Amino acid sequence: MKFLEHEAKSVFSENGIPVPKGFLIHSADELAGYLEQLPPEFVLKAQVDVGGRGKAGGILMADRKNGIENAKALFGKSIKGVAVKEILAEERLEIQHEYYASIAVDRSTKEALILFTEEGGVDIEILARERPSAIRRASLPLLMTDIPPFMLRDLLGEAPREAGKVLQSLYTAFCRKDAILAEINPLVATPAGLFAADAKLIVDDNALRRQGISCNRDMTDREREAERHGFSYVELEGNIGVIGNGAGLTMATLDLISFFKGKAANFLDVGGGADQERVMHAVRLVAGVPSVKVIIVNLLGGITRCDEVARGIIAAGISQEVFVRLAGTNEEEGRSLLSERGYRMVGSMEEAVRAAVEAVR
Ligand code: GDP
Ligand code: MN
Repeated sequence: MKFLEHEAKSVFSENGIPVPKGFLIHSADELAGYLEQLPPEFVLKAQVDVGGRGKAGGILMADRKNGIENAKALFGKSIKGVAVKEILAEERLEIQHEYYASIAVDRSTKEALILFTEEGGVDIEILARERPSAIRRASLPLLMTDIPPFMLRDLLGEAPREAGKVLQSLYTAFCRKDAILAEINPLVATPAGLFAADAKLIVDDNALRRQGISCNRDMTDREREAERHGFSYVELEGNIGVIGNGAGLTMATLDLISFFKGKAANFLDVGGGADQERVMHAVRLVAGVPSVKVIIVNLLGGITRCDEVARGIIAAGISQEVFVRLAGTNEEEGRSLLSERGYRMVGSMEEAVRAAVEAVR
């Protein structure tokens, strides 16, 4: 789950990284109470989870005179489609230099990948593409509690030694928070020392419970419901709902939809041994997606019994047309249950997908 800038900054600050003094506000009027505590010049930063926020107009310079007016303007905006509900009003830093520092889990080595460059600022992806040698990197086994000094020296180059402390603290925060990414871009040098001017932290979704986070904000309500039922569920852009059992069969269904030039609305794997109840919940869940026009149910009966599946589909009682492909255990019984109720049964997976794609045309 992604933390917002102000949340990531509190975590970084707790771990000893200097951050600018700031206040979180939920309305422009709330700023009035903080004007005395902020320096005469400050920045207003929209707390929205989008990349390139500054360039998209999500950061405004402000002072005591225009602060409230600018905050009003920023609250009225949406940045790349995300409405501004919270603003971080923060001391304006006098930037002398911008560095970049990040720590991520490298899935291939299963180690922490630490990146540092003297050329921080906004576009790290472009720098990585055009001049990868400008980014120094080090790989650290996650069992290590600290970054060894030789590694810090290699990473920092000419940067001030203070940056080593920041990297060390960033690594501590990264480990404590079960993060998959901790990033400071930019880490700025000012006359008063180094500060994390921006902060990004992504906690591993598998560690949310341990981190005391009960609700994953990055998920939609439906994705959360799917998780409760134990479905593997991903929402996509199209209008054909997909329910399958087994990730392979479900993926193959998506491939076939794409082959016939249709667009899947989701991926839902009900898992093995789905009973009537589970199938019903799956069908209702997918039918609840507003864009879904038709649904393909593609299930292979092994431990799963086709008659149970058929009962589940019938019990769901949804309005969209359902194209059902069943094969395997109790197939005949399942088929006749559905046919009796007027469901369109198809012989093969290919037929089901072709019919569904035609139906939405
Ligand atoms: P992002 O666009 O979401 O990455 O937002 P950042 O917080 O990284 O800000 C983008 C850019 O705005 C920074 O690289 C700085 O150049 C500038 N900026 C942000 N905060 C300040 C500040 O306090 N003072 C000054 N002078 N510039 C700032
Ligand atoms: Mn940034």
